[in-house]
Amino acid sequence: MKQTLIPEQKILEEVRKTVAEGLNIKQLERVRPESSLMRDLGAESLDFLDIDYRLEQAFGIRLARHSVVEHMEEMFGEESAIDSDGKLTEKAAKVFNLRFKDSGQEVRAGMDMDSLPAMVTVRSLCDGVMNLLDTLPEACTGCGGKEWKIKGGVLVQCASCGEPASYADGDDLIDEWLRRVQEREKIF
Ligand SMILES: [Zn+2]
Repeated sequence: MKQTLIPEQKILEEVRKTVAEGLNIKQLERVRPESSLMRDLGAESLDFLDIDYRLEQAFGIRLARHSVVEHMEEMFGEESAIDSDGKLTEKAAKVFNLRFKDSGQEVRAGMDMDSLPAMVTVRSLCDGVMNLLDTLPEACTGCGGKEWKIKGGVLVQCASCGEPASYADGDDLIDEWLRRVQEREKIF
């Protein structure tokens, strides 16, 4: 269910703070919603793992371990997303543009797949976290309680037994989304 306990602004602030910590950036104002982690903030591949881990700890979520590209290829076959030259296919570009339609960035077929990570922004990370938080279950899996409370800022736990909320898994969520898109748009 769509969670209403943590306001979007608070989630964005937490993500900005986490990115700043993960990249050892002292001035928080440098970490803007539209900042690309790689292009603007100097992140390298390993930094993503660290930032993901920090976000998981802060929010009590499990982010996807596999990229959208990997999920597409798993679901729709090899070279459905990346062709043999390492370029993004027409179909994959369509999927990405649906996924990031509010981000102001455009993905084109033929783009080198190595340029995709540079498209991760503070905003897109925040969206990913919000999607997961919006899978907050109706009731606690531990005691069945239906009231949630917030612990220390952004961690949701059961108001009765204190068990952390169990959100959907990031990889499952991507699969579900891809299936829905495919059903609606018949891309592949
Ligand atoms: Zn409970």
